[in-house]
Amino acid sequence: MKCDVVVVGAGPGGSMFSKTAAEAGLKVVMLEKRQEIGDPVRCAEGVGKRALSKMVELDSRWIASEVKGARIIAPDGTSIVMSEDKGGAEVGYVLERKVFDRALAENAARAGAKVLVKTRATGLLRKDGVPCGVTAMRFGEALRIDAPLVIGADGVESKVGRWAGIDTALKLKDIETCAQFLVQDSSIDDSYCEFYLGNSIAPAGYVWSFPKGKKLANVGLGVLGSRSKPGEALRLLRQFVDKRYPNGRAVEMVVGGDPCSGPIESTVADGVMLVGDAARQTDPLTGGGILNAMEAGIIAGEVAAKAISAGDVSASGLKEYEDRWRATIGRHISRSYEFKEFFVKLSDDDLNRLLGSLKGEDLTKTDLRGMLRVLFRLNPKLLWELRHLVI
Ligand SMILES: Cc1cc2nc3c(=O)[nH]c(=O)nc-3n(C[C@H](O)[C@H](O)[C@H](O)COP(=O)(O)OP(=O)(O)OC[C@H]3O[C@@H](n4cnc5c(N)ncnc54)[C@H](O)[C@@H]3O)c2cc1C
Repeated sequence: MKCDVVVVGAGPGGSMFSKTAAEAGLKVVMLEKRQEIGDPVRCAEGVGKRALSKMVELDSRWIASEVKGARIIAPDGTSIVMSEDKGGAEVGYVLERKVFDRALAENAARAGAKVLVKTRATGLLRKDGVPCGVTAMRFGEALRIDAPLVIGADGVESKVGRWAGIDTALKLKDIETCAQFLVQDSSIDDSYCEFYLGNSIAPAGYVWSFPKGKKLANVGLGVLGSRSKPGEALRLLRQFVDKRYPNGRAVEMVVGGDPCSGPIESTVADGVMLVGDAARQTDPLTGGGILNAMEAGIIAGEVAAKAISAGDVSASGLKEYEDRWRATIGRHISRSYEFKEFFVKLSDDDLNRLLGSLKGEDLTKTDLRGMLRVLFRLNPKLLWELRHLVI
């Protein structure tokens, strides 16, 4: 098989890349190792409304629920509420990703991309040492796909980057190990995404409860790899669910890793670009990565079209991708990384003090940055280290 660009992975990053590149006239082949795109889901499925609607036409088939805002709960039970439009990139809609991911892949196919499911990329083809396509296995048969450009959109466990010599290794302190149940319980608040903080419930992480309507919610947690041990995320999740939803029933379960490294050194090599989790573009503080993967996919698609038509897919020919994503997503996740590094050091007393200090403050019109400013005003000593991010 021959094409202009072969995309490994049909998650939000791969599909947005494929749609953009196909619309620009490139011959695109997108490979997905699973037989059903989007399944199994490894995600809490929360996304901000505005950013999502800028990138894809909204469709009620993949919106499980719409929330009013976020509730953040301190270890001592003190809580604050933020409105949906200010609550960050994971608050607004809770998606049905099994349908959403497939819809994005269908959009890519409609734009002209060829989608091959149950097809696993197994390595890079090379000519004179330079990548020029991939080898793959499809229904037990070996396949080769020749293409001057390869996109690694193969998620957190990405191999494409490693094959191309890009350092995507994650330190234990830069990955959250996560476990999640889809819980059915009559006490679930269908109107708010909830975030529970505390070192005993989720060391250097948090517990989330994202409602999917009809008293169902994705209830999960992430624990920083360096503070975890095998089976720990699941053990802590069971403990939390037993206490918070004693009558709840878990009807689905997922485990997975979420990168929280901030921007990595390089996301391009000769003939290769990485997008989404493969490029470690997830928000290190919240773990949200759907919107960043989609945005990076669009940028990479636009750059790929220019690079292919200019006949220059060398790392320097693809540099515009690096420059553009670092100026937008990269700036945001660098800041988030600093917050994360600070956040993971906080004790439960610190968390109680910070959230407690917001009692009586009107946060209805305050976004996360504004909230930090208020927190800094009220707790200058505790937050002194973050002063350069506040001013
Ligand atoms: C527990 C958990 C909860 C999360 N909650 C949220 C949330 O609420 N909001 C949010 O924004 N983000 C969340 N995230 C992060 C979010 O899921 C990812 O950032 C997002 O899916 C990244 O999209 P992607 O396209 O880069 O990769 P993925 O969605 O991971 O897609 C990669 C695709 O590549 C395929 N693939 C891998 N290797 C190969 C191969 N060799 N050949 C062919 N195909 C291959 C995979 O099967 C997969 O379909 C969460 C993550 C976890 C683990």
